[in-house]
Amino acid sequence: MEKITGLELSPRKIDYLKYLYQKDARIRTNEISEHFNVDPSTITKTITELSNSGYVDHIPYRGVKLTKMGKEYATFLIHRHRILSLMLKQHGLESEDACREASRFEGYVSKKAIDRICSSMGHPRMGVCGKIDHAYCDFGQ
Ligand SMILES: [Zn+2]
Ligand SMILES: [Zn+2]
Repeated sequence: MEKITGLELSPRKIDYLKYLYQKDARIRTNEISEHFNVDPSTITKTITELSNSGYVDHIPYRGVKLTKMGKEYATFLIHRHRILSLMLKQHGLESEDACREASRFEGYVSKKAIDRICSSMGHPRMGVCGKIDHAYCDFGQ
């Protein structure tokens, strides 16, 4: 995919992509709407937008799953989440709070900033809520 800035998607879309990444299968849009407690018509609209920009493959009545590009992007999203939550934990937050707080603002932090922070933290392997994958890190900056 084209170079990621990290600022491509709204917080809501980020949540959906991360959810789909964790599911790792084609799921019904109903499932997303129930999980996030959002009206099904709103979900369909957002999923259609994600599909038009190439992040998900949506087949009406069969459901939605990530495309290759969507998976790559989700890998970045998870990386960003885990770096920011680890950073918050290192500054005194409990793990759960660190995760929750990071989820509130992570969508506004650029990949460039994350790559720098990750580098200055020494590319940590273990985050607050899982392993940290550095496949898309820009090393040596
Ligand atoms: Zn987390
Ligand atoms: Zn890294």
